[in-house]
Amino acid sequence: MPDHTPLTRQVDLRGIAGFAQALVAALRATPGVEVLAVLRAGVHATCPQCQLRLFGEDVLALAASQAPSPETSPKLHRLAQGFCGRQSCNGLFYEFTFDPVPGVDWESVLAQTEPADAGAATAAVTGPAVTPAGHTRKRTRQRVALGVAVIVVLLLVRHIMTGGTIPWVREPRRFTADPATMPKLGETNTAPPASSGTNAPRTFRAAPEPGRP
Ligand SMILES: [Zn+2]
Repeated sequence: MPDHTPLTRQVDLRGIAGFAQALVAALRATPGVEVLAVLRAGVHATCPQCQLRLFGEDVLALAASQAPSPETSPKLHRLAQGFCGRQSCNGLFYEFTFDPVPGVDWESVLAQTEPADAGAATAAVTGPAVTPAGHTRKRTRQRVALGVAVIVVLLLVRHIMTGGTIPWVREPRRFTADPATMPKLGETNTAPPASSGTNAPRTFRAAPEPGRP
């Protein structure tokens, strides 16, 4: 007896194109099924972060061997690259819903989309071969950068613990006094210079009137 509650499945965006391919392949292998009609009637997906929706046609387009160009469909192009179809969204997965369709057993169709060695729950719908290469390269670079950072920190800690100074932070400074500014023996450098008479009390004398001796 078929189960009439819709099945749902979280699909990692990095593997969404591969998932669409596997889903379409599984439906094509199901006898008496018209793939587009089943996708339209039974499959839709939502980004939980921005609520962008995908429909059966989108899934079929994603499954195409050639990824849609940004001109044809910016949404599908972004999805094929492993990102949410909405440019401003950084969601990581889509929530797929599989509504009951006569003649389609979603449980067995979805089982066919899973790799044979589906051990980890997250790997079940992604499949390693379909991960976009860009993602993998980016992750490798991030890992290398993290490794280098850890090594630098460890070297720095060792350096400080062995009594070193932190380079660039506590660079030793040397000061030399300019002999010209040094106070002479017996004199303090707070004594006003001889020429400074600015604040000295002043005496005023009336200037002689013009024309008089
Ligand atoms: Zn989104």
